[in-house]
Amino acid sequence: MYPQLRIDLAKINNNLDTVVSIAKQGGCSLMIVTKSFCADQRIVAEILKNDYVQFLADSRIQNIASYADQVHMAGKETVLLRLPMMSEIADVVRYADVSLNSGLDTIKLLDKEAAAQNKKHKVILMIDMGDLREGMFFKDEAAIMDVCGEILKMDHVVLEGIGVNLSCYGAIIPKPENLGGLCAIAEKIEKKFSIRLNIISGGNSSSIYLIPKGELPARINNVRLGESFILGNETAYSNRIEGTYNDAVTLRAQIIELKNKPSLPIGDVGVDAFGQVPVYEDRGNIDRAILAVGKQDTNPDGMTPLNTKADILGASSDHLIMDVTKEDYKLGDTVDFSLDYGALLKLFTSQYIDREYI
Ligand SMILES: *Cc1c(COP(=O)(O)O)cnc(C)c1O
Repeated sequence: MYPQLRIDLAKINNNLDTVVSIAKQGGCSLMIVTKSFCADQRIVAEILKNDYVQFLADSRIQNIASYADQVHMAGKETVLLRLPMMSEIADVVRYADVSLNSGLDTIKLLDKEAAAQNKKHKVILMIDMGDLREGMFFKDEAAIMDVCGEILKMDHVVLEGIGVNLSCYGAIIPKPENLGGLCAIAEKIEKKFSIRLNIISGGNSSSIYLIPKGELPARINNVRLGESFILGNETAYSNRIEGTYNDAVTLRAQIIELKNKPSLPIGDVGVDAFGQVPVYEDRGNIDRAILAVGKQDTNPDGMTPLNTKADILGASSDHLIMDVTKEDYKLGDTVDFSLDYGALLKLFTSQYIDREYI
């Protein structure tokens, strides 16, 4: 069935081996982040076979619930990346061994729920080093110390460590300075309370470029990797990671109409199905193909046609329009595309997309 995500498990394993070796080189434990592929079972099964990966992490508790048993059977742990909603605390304690948190109110609820479930729940306290997404603001050191002190008094929540997220909202690049600041805070916490933090989590796929350069601060001992694993992208400077495949997951879509028509629409131009005023390029009369995939399933701007001289002209909810003048496609032929993060994420989320494992 088309449209179809084509998932090359050998390439995925190759990418996994590459990010594992980077994490190892950086002295980091590794959380593989499963959200961009909606915790696809076959991909998860491959990750679970890897001895080095200690954690599977996701921002959605439904995804974690789908694999928590398998992860535990493999001797690994589950991590909830998005701050818990107050309405999901019971499931967080039930399915996640670790959660990222930024405030005492939620952590108190976790403690109470963990007591009710007779469990220990580990938290990583997020510190905002300037990206302005989640975390306690790094300059509020007194508040950070207070929250750590309160957590350390709890019976069912364990302060497992601290962490940072960068390059997300504010697009702030991880550097020895901001990550070093996180390590300094960790050391102050350790000194004040005479404890040792198990995890100092230094960020996502935007942090790993520091490792080959030897610039990841020594106390950072964990990274959380999604895009660098599934697409092989280093996300601080948008470089490809050597030894990874960008096409471990591709999309195959089928041609449902092929006609020679003008490249400029005829009539008065209003707005398209998404309220945008379209821009057209006059290419004269062209062979136009319509493929059965659209904006309901993906982000067409994030798709690149593979092995073809055809290019994408635009899309509506269910139709992708291509200029195929330089190819001789037949009705029913398929076209393959490589995907960026946004396109991949939406395709895995769409229930209309088939998955083929190769
Ligand atoms: C999504 C996410 C990650 C993984 O990010 P990538 O750039 O895909 O590696 C790591 N940490 C948190 C908190 C996230 O939400």
